[in-house]
Amino acid sequence: MAKEKSVISESLKSPRGMHDILPSDHEYHTYIKKVIRHRARQAGFRRISTPILEYTDVFKRSLGENSDLFTNQVYSFDDKKGRSLSLKPDGTPGVVRAYIQHNMDERPQPVLLYYFEPHFRYENPQKGRYRQFWQFGFEIIGESDPALDAQCIQIANKINEDLGVNGLYTLQLNTIGTSESREKYSQVLEDYYVGKERSLCENCKKLLEENPLRMLDCNEEDCKILAELAPSMHDYIDKESLEYHEELMEYLDEIGIKYENNQKLVRCLDYYTKTVFEFWDEKDGSSNATGGGGRYDSLINTMGGKSIPAVGYAGGVERIIANMKKEKIVVPSKDELHVFVAQLGREAKRKCLGLIEDMRESGIKSMGALGKGSINIQLELADKFKVPYAVLIGITEVRENTAIIRDMKKGVQETVKMEKVVDRLVDFIGEKNLDKYSPGELLYS
Ligand code: AMP
Repeated sequence: MAKEKSVISESLKSPRGMHDILPSDHEYHTYIKKVIRHRARQAGFRRISTPILEYTDVFKRSLGENSDLFTNQVYSFDDKKGRSLSLKPDGTPGVVRAYIQHNMDERPQPVLLYYFEPHFRYENPQKGRYRQFWQFGFEIIGESDPALDAQCIQIANKINEDLGVNGLYTLQLNTIGTSESREKYSQVLEDYYVGKERSLCENCKKLLEENPLRMLDCNEEDCKILAELAPSMHDYIDKESLEYHEELMEYLDEIGIKYENNQKLVRCLDYYTKTVFEFWDEKDGSSNATGGGGRYDSLINTMGGKSIPAVGYAGGVERIIANMKKEKIVVPSKDELHVFVAQLGREAKRKCLGLIEDMRESGIKSMGALGKGSINIQLELADKFKVPYAVLIGITEVRENTAIIRDMKKGVQETVKMEKVVDRLVDFIGEKNLDKYSPGELLYS
């Protein structure tokens, strides 16, 4: 008989550019989340989660009505009352909205927050670029000081180091000055590009009208050459921002963080002021950056809050995982089972259920495929689940109130009194490898 096959139509698959996180990748997610939590706690950051949806105005105000991210990449829809809502494309706007809404300016400043959340952008999906992706981020709100920018970069760098991927990146650093000085420089750029339109790619032709600064970021060969020859940004940036930048570089030198001073780095979001930075892929540059951030001194005010400065960083989890795999970094897995319980007959099954519960209470990760099938078929299954131990209970064992413990690797087994099975398994597995559930401990794990 032909084997039954699953047939799934396109409309029943996950949406384009949005992927399931399968168990093997969840191990990376869990590990990354733990590293982030550890580094965050050490530095006094507290976790925040904002809704996946915000009123569209939150993003319109923060990202800028004319920004590429807002106009082309935000998923928006009207709710039943006709209010426009959008899936969050970026973490900072929601955090800033929450800071203002919950009067966090009344707390001791700076307020240090971090998040780990899914984000959504209507992108052209390709390797490392998805429509749903996970970002973690750190925000330091309430103070302006180059030492804080340095600390923000330091924590991002530390996380890359912890995850073993820092060798794949270079830290790109720039200052884009205040929004006034940036406007001035945009005008200079516009003047420079006028008359050179024929050499520009289609996208840059559009950017010339909308946001000439972003043309500096283009990867097309001709555009790159023109960008190289363009007037230097720092000749037009305000003095205070340049001094701020000098001080930041001093601090980074002091803590031994290497960077490339890159006057072409602009970051695509409108809310940045002064410091911007990105971790660029050694090969693919900005197109495969794992993270980036910068200072946003006027955003809180733009969003209706007081004039409160801030700096932040966001990293992309999928790209980090891809690079961890590239670097052959294996994350510790806590998901592997210790024991597979095989049984024969209804009586044995009854005993198994109780035994499985006792094992789990003792921290032994165990499963029993309590379906039908011979002991041998169940043992084959145990092999496929790659468990180190199997417990077998057949008719004889039920009668004698015993169980067989089998070492799957060595292929040896021993018969043990039922009430001793858990203790014996604990001996084999080792106390430190148990997965004990204790709500108190769990809170701090
Ligand atoms: P951004 O603030 O846009 O630079 O995003 C911060 C980081 O999030 C990037 O450096 C990427 O690692 C990640 N990221 C941004 N957009 C995407 C996407 N569409 N798919 C996967 N990762 C992304």
